[in-house]
Order: sequence, then C-alpha cells, then structure tokens
Amino acid sequence: MVNSRVLQIGPLSERFNRTLADHYQVTALWQQADPLRFLEEQGGQFELLVSSARFGCSAEQLQCLPNLRAICSFGVGYDPYPLELLRDRGIVLSTTPDVLNDCVADLAMGLIIDTARQLAAADRFVRQGQWLTGNYPLTRKVSGKKLGIVGLGRIGQAIARRAEGFAMPVRYHKRCQDLSSPYGFEADLLALARWADFLVLACPGGAATHHLIDADVLAALGPQGVLVNISRGSVVDQTALVAALLDGSLGGAGLDVFESEPAVPAELFVLPNVVLLPHVGSGTHETRLQMEELVLANLQAFFDKGELLTPL
Ligand code: NAP
Repeated sequence: MVNSRVLQIGPLSERFNRTLADHYQVTALWQQADPLRFLEEQGGQFELLVSSARFGCSAEQLQCLPNLRAICSFGVGYDPYPLELLRDRGIVLSTTPDVLNDCVADLAMGLIIDTARQLAAADRFVRQGQWLTGNYPLTRKVSGKKLGIVGLGRIGQAIARRAEGFAMPVRYHKRCQDLSSPYGFEADLLALARWADFLVLACPGGAATHHLIDADVLAALGPQGVLVNISRGSVVDQTALVAALLDGSLGGAGLDVFESEPAVPAELFVLPNVVLLPHVGSGTHETRLQMEELVLANLQAFFDKGELLTPL
C-alpha cells in the first residue's frame, strides 16, 4: 500500500498543480522556506515524487528521502536524475515518452527550414522596413539535402519520417545499429558530419553524450553545414560552436537548447544563419496536456498497483 503524500520538486502548469492537489496530499518543495532543511526533517514521509526533466531530483535530495519508491517525471529527458543511485535503491522512474515526438520533430524540421531559408531573419528584414530599400539575399535550399541524425530513437525516427517528405537522404549515428531501420547507419560520427548537409541532434543529454559535438565534428560539418539541436545543450561544446559560427567554419545552427539555459551567448544574436529558440520543443497546448495526463496516469498506476505505465 502506497501512501497518498506526494512531494513535488518544482512547479508545472497551474492546471497540473491543481489536478495533482485534487487527488493527493501534495507538498510543494519549492514553496518551503528552506527546501533542503524541510527534506532533512520531513523527507521520510514521502514514497511518491513528482518532478520534471527540468527540475529532476539530486542525489543530495534523494538522501533525505529514505522511503521513496517512485518518481513520475514530466518530459523524456532523464539527465537530471542520478540513475545509478535510483537503481541501487530500487526507486522506479517514469517519463512521458512518445506523446511529444510529433511536436519535437515538427520543431526540428522548422529549425532546418528556418536556418536554411532564414525565415526569422527575413521576417525581421520586413519588419525593419529594409525591403523598401532592397531585396533579401539568396538563401539555401532544403529539399533533397542530406540529413544526418544523431540518436535515432522515438524523436529521431519522427524527424527522419518527416525528412522523407522533403526527399532528404537520411543517415544516422547512435551506439548500436538498428537493423530494422530503413536508414543508413554510420558508426563514425565524424564521417556522418562530413556527409551531412544538416546534422540534427536527437540523443539524450548526460555524461555519456557530454560535448559529443566538439570542434572536430563542427569542422567536419563544415562551412556549408548546419547543426540543429533539439536534444540537450550539454551535447554540444557551446564555446566551440560559437567560435565556428563566428569564423564561418560552420554554415549555420538552429538551437532549441543551450548549455546554461536560459543564458544564450550574445555573440549569436547578430548572425542571420542562426535561429535561437527558448527550449520549446514540446511546448504546444496539445502536447503539454498529454504530458501532464501521462504523469498523472503513471502516478495513479503506481498508487493503485505499484507499477508505472511508462518506466524508464
Ligand atoms: P530515445 O527514444 O531514448 O532515443 C534516444 C536515441 O539516442 C536512441 O536512438 C539512442 O540509441 C541514442 N543514443 C543514446 N546514447 C547515445 C550516445 N552516447 N551517442 C549517440 N546516440 C546515443 O529518446 P527520445 O524520446 O527520442 O528523446 C531524445 C532526447 O530528446 C531526450 O533525451 C531529450 O534530451 C530530448 N528532448 C528535447 C525536447 C525539447 O524540448 N527540445 C523535448 C523532448 C526531448 P542507442 O542507445 O543505440 O545509442
């Protein structure tokens, strides 16, 4: 029997917070005057925890939660959770897979098109009255260009399917070849970067992928190549990326995620071949509602039967 007390690490939408409070005895950790002290004194009462790919749960916090059994997390990223510690303690973790694939893949295609055709920059050109004095410069074609995908999981595959509609040849890199995939596997990331016109990142964040995209990969992508990142900022060496964009050794970048969000390198603000988004991959009304419902369904399933619906 699981008790109905739920610890919530950080705020989600008002709607979600209300629904959660309607069904459980919720303690909002972020509203405590001294959250860590609160956990040290009262952490023992919680078996259920709700958090998100943004707030996660630190090893330090987990130490104050000796009876924790399940974490229901909003989002698919699991990089802010100490997975080994969770495994050792037998704490199960659910995420919200699949329901966000379409929106994140749509956004990746949007970034591909915007970086190449410079939609946002051309829009600024019109708004600033510059069209009255001249035409916008030519940009680069998207259809038929070669697409490299790093991480061909749920979102990566959704991106690849969309790229087929643009007649883009697709190749991918990940740790293991997917023998059932119709797309070409490239074990060597540098070779994929050399081949690709667009390199889209759709792998997880965390230690294993930290700075996977370094100065060498960016150099391989080259002055005509475009990097699109909808995965995690930590996957890219951001200092190397800024340097490559500023000196023209990389053709462009479409970025939804950054190393220290919400900080974005100001050097990028003036570059027309760079599109900067505030981590909005899954940020539509429809998808966020489905993600909230999946967090609540996981919580309810664990409360009722001791099992999560979408465990990691
Ligand atoms: P997924 O289904 O688990 O797919 C992850 C893919 O990455 C798999 O193909 C995996 O294949 C590959 N991968 C794992 N480690 C790798 C490594 N070290 N090097 C290369 N490839 C590696 O995950 P998903 O649902 O598609 O989500 C992917 C990521 O998108 C999430 O983890 C999250 O960070 C990000 N995301 C961003 C947003 C946003 O708002 N921008 C929203 C949702 C998700 P192998 O295991 O064979 O390597």
